[in-house]
Amino acid sequence: KAKDSGKNRYLFYDSNMHSELMRKSELEKRLRKAIDNGELKLVFQPQVELNEEKIVASEVLLRWISDEFGFVSPEEFIPLAEETGLIIPIGKWVLEQACLINKQWMDEGYAPKIVGVNVSVIQLKDENFLENLREILHETNLQPEYLELEITESVVMEELDETLKILNEIRFMGVNISLDDFGTGYSSLSYLKELPINKLKIDKSFIDKIQHDESSKEIVDGIIQLAHKIELTVLAEGVETKEQLDILKNMNCDKIQGYYFSKPISKEEFEKMC
Ligand code: C2E
Ligand code: MG
Ligand code: MG
Ligand code: MG
Repeated sequence: KAKDSGKNRYLFYDSNMHSELMRKSELEKRLRKAIDNGELKLVFQPQVELNEEKIVASEVLLRWISDEFGFVSPEEFIPLAEETGLIIPIGKWVLEQACLINKQWMDEGYAPKIVGVNVSVIQLKDENFLENLREILHETNLQPEYLELEITESVVMEELDETLKILNEIRFMGVNISLDDFGTGYSSLSYLKELPINKLKIDKSFIDKIQHDESSKEIVDGIIQLAHKIELTVLAEGVETKEQLDILKNMNCDKIQGYYFSKPISKEEFEKMC
């Protein structure tokens, strides 16, 4: 009997694995054509300056509504795109679209705002990345100070020397850099000073806890004070409640982003808010 159930468990596990692999390979096939099929679109999440409570920037987030699979979460397709190298053409498309749209907004007379674009390490290390970036800025005519690239913390730490060179080039072009999901990686505060970045985005996992957990609150407070000492702007990610906002305001946090103010919204909805 024990043997039977063991065997069943094995079969069950195996068929799960099989369908997971099937989904993955089918997703990859579809993702390959997603740009040409017009299945990708950008949404924008406002970033709000806490003193005046006004929108000063947005983060661009990629959405994939597949003809075959419907909505697929970025948490699923971004890692897949990274694994398969598809993130290179997709990331380039996102960057182009984001710069194009921001330039349009400027021309249409909206108050100037920074647009933040997530950049994967695979893109960053691609030999054409800097050239592509330069070309996109040139072709869209967007002033580089209205673009910000979001790089995740762990990525930067992995190969510090190599990444530093690229980040310095990006800053040299006048483009801003923010450190995304801060606090989830190696979190060595001492290296921050060496990085050519403008902004820290404190990860949502800390913000989730600041209302209830004294030590999370102290950590966030510490990050903010330190960041200010080395002249970095601090943004809190994933702010969902007024209580969190008030705590962050008391700590002199510069900016917030999160459902409390707005979920990521379409270009048209974002324009209505501005
Ligand atoms: P991220 O860059 O840290 O983006 C923030 C994520 O948190 C977004 O999820 C956003 O919708 C979500 N979020 C913002 N405020 C709140 C809140 O108050 N509550 C909750 N529960 N969630 C909030 P999303 O859009 O699903 O993106 C997930 C991740 O996928 C992003 O994390 C980013 O790492 C990646 N990603 C998205 N678009 C792109 C892209 O164009 N390129 C690359 N390389 N990565 C992307
Ligand atoms: Mg981000
Ligand atoms: Mg983040
Ligand atoms: Mg994230």
